[in-house]
Amino acid sequence: MEKRIVVAIDGPAGAGKSTVARQVAERMGFLYIDTGAMYRAIALWAHRQGTAFDDHLNLTQLALAADIELGPEQVFLNGEDVSTAIRTPEIASAASKVSVVAGVRRALVEKQRAMGARLSVVMEGRDIATHVFPDAQIKIFLDAAADVRAARRVDQLGGDILAVTQEIQARDHRDRTRTEAPLLQAPDAVYLDTSNLPSDEVVEAILQIVRARTSNGKAVTS
Ligand code: C5P
Repeated sequence: MEKRIVVAIDGPAGAGKSTVARQVAERMGFLYIDTGAMYRAIALWAHRQGTAFDDHLNLTQLALAADIELGPEQVFLNGEDVSTAIRTPEIASAASKVSVVAGVRRALVEKQRAMGARLSVVMEGRDIATHVFPDAQIKIFLDAAADVRAARRVDQLGGDILAVTQEIQARDHRDRTRTEAPLLQAPDAVYLDTSNLPSDEVVEAILQIVRARTSNGKAVTS
């Protein structure tokens, strides 16, 4: 059986991960997996249930019980299409709070590893290259200046630039300083600053790396 390829893309909010990862997956014929959507889905469920962010036991139970399905554009939680509901700033912030819980991370990482076990994937998140798939053949760390990242979010979702900047900064700080699998560049990841690069150039740069390290998208066995 051919070995699968894992392209791991990490980086802070607004670095361009989703746009780029989705296109790389499409071009290579790999499965696209947005792990942030999984943390957002748990946050949405917790919010609806009124589960407190310090109630680690119940948050972990929700993460273990959640049936999360990821389509190329859609996210389903327990059979319900929550694609729009998970994209609010409130749920983004809640996602970064539930994602500090060790039990939640363990449950979701297990689901992510199962998704990437057999098929070639482009998986984006915060800890993919460092923790979920430390053996990924391709590791990319996408970054951009803080003001550029905030402006992109406002372009995508609207809102006030000051409020969005504060929300992103608070979320990044929480993601970088948590104990469990913090946002961190893997030592063997390629760093790409996307501040002044259009997304199609970032996609081309990543495709070049993928092709250089694989044989036309297939694992090179040595
Ligand atoms: O990528 P996105 O902005 O949708 O992620 C929402 C939140 O989910 C992040 O701010 C982070 O706290 C959490 N997350 C994580 N690990 C991942 C992906 C997302 O902790 N692999």
